[in-house]
Amino acid sequence: MIPLPSIRPSALRLGTAVLALCATTTFAQSPASSSTRDAANATPPAIVIHAGTLLANPGESPLKTRTVVVRGGRIVSIDEGFRPAASYGTDAKFVDLSDRFVMPGLIDLHMHLSISMHAGPEVSGSEARLALNGAAYARRLLDAGVTTVRDVGDNGGTVYALRDAIAAGDVPGPRIFAAGRVISRTGGHGAKRPGPTELHFEPAGCDGVESCRRAVRENIEAGADWIKLTVSGSGREAGGRADAQPIMLADEIAAASEAARRAYRPIAAHAHSTAAINAALANGATTVEHGTYFDAESARLFKQRGAWLVPTASVAAFVRSQLSMFAGNGDVKGTDELKQWADAAVANPGRAWSAGIPLALGTDGGPSFDADTTAKEVGLYVAAGVPASAALAAATRNGAEALGMGDRLGRVQAGYIADLIAVDGDPLADVERLRTVLFVMKDGVVHREVERSP
Ligand SMILES: [Zn+2]
Repeated sequence: MIPLPSIRPSALRLGTAVLALCATTTFAQSPASSSTRDAANATPPAIVIHAGTLLANPGESPLKTRTVVVRGGRIVSIDEGFRPAASYGTDAKFVDLSDRFVMPGLIDLHMHLSISMHAGPEVSGSEARLALNGAAYARRLLDAGVTTVRDVGDNGGTVYALRDAIAAGDVPGPRIFAAGRVISRTGGHGAKRPGPTELHFEPAGCDGVESCRRAVRENIEAGADWIKLTVSGSGREAGGRADAQPIMLADEIAAASEAARRAYRPIAAHAHSTAAINAALANGATTVEHGTYFDAESARLFKQRGAWLVPTASVAAFVRSQLSMFAGNGDVKGTDELKQWADAAVANPGRAWSAGIPLALGTDGGPSFDADTTAKEVGLYVAAGVPASAALAAATRNGAEALGMGDRLGRVQAGYIADLIAVDGDPLADVERLRTVLFVMKDGVVHREVERSP
């Protein structure tokens, strides 16, 4: 067993995206540094937001009537009442959200931005076209209030280009933490034979200890922030049944995990079966993806290890709505068994909440899905029995903590990166409100502001 890694990518190696972000963000100047230069140059102009209701710390009660002050990409203060913008400087910009519900931007921990499940060959046949497809989707995600995404698997590293282009400000989109190619064994989950017009979807091959280490190291060299391991088959397959053994051998899981841990890369482990979930947790996975058939031992390991479950109810709900398209023969489950899995996976957030398992949130979405899929996943949590307050925390604060970014993302707090969204009404009372986002700020820049109708 590998000792529990205290992986803090934020402290040890920020993702490239984050490094670029920090390099371009002007932080509020300390008095010491501002004394050495012209004060007017040292302080970026304020953006002054009147927030009617402010969910500053998801999981806790919202605050009423607050003035949020943003400078140079960061939240610098949250003051009681509505204070005039001019009191923060003559050049302050005013944003009126005095009748809206303001909260941190959404964080989706399970997406595939450069895989397009149902795209035709004109898109799926070219890495360059897939990258542009991903860029178009990234803009729609940001419009929908998703300000941070973890991408847990692409084909040939396309997502790194998208991540870096967004961080450089070349295209709009959420900040991305990327895993690159999935680490999978020959014929394992994610290893798919291409159709005649498709690119060969090629995971990084993990067949035996040395190749697993190499696959992880090659991904890191290519730019991976995370390592995605496919420890079980998919929910569609026999290898994803509740009682299935992991599809990777114990020494393969251990070798890949150890190589990742030594490079301070956290692991996102795809696992449906009980044995696969528990093997991933025992080897130090930071997040378990899907996690359909966790048991009491899994719950104990999640808590003991500080790991997070990312249940992805959205993709299970989608499969359930299209059973005949996803059912099959042989290693692929037939309709009845597939429905049993989808029912269990859709109910999983509620079951995990009852078991006290720390919940983050991800959808398994991508360009084939609607841009409000992340918001719908919050609704699926609530429908499965997770209190709305905890579901909103999963989609914001907990995601940030799972990313090792809990000290700068996922809350509206002085010193945090200014990623804010606003909706009408109260999403704690009606979670569907999250599907209509009216205001989006990322890195202190207003990306979207829907005008009030006159
Ligand atoms: Zn996935």
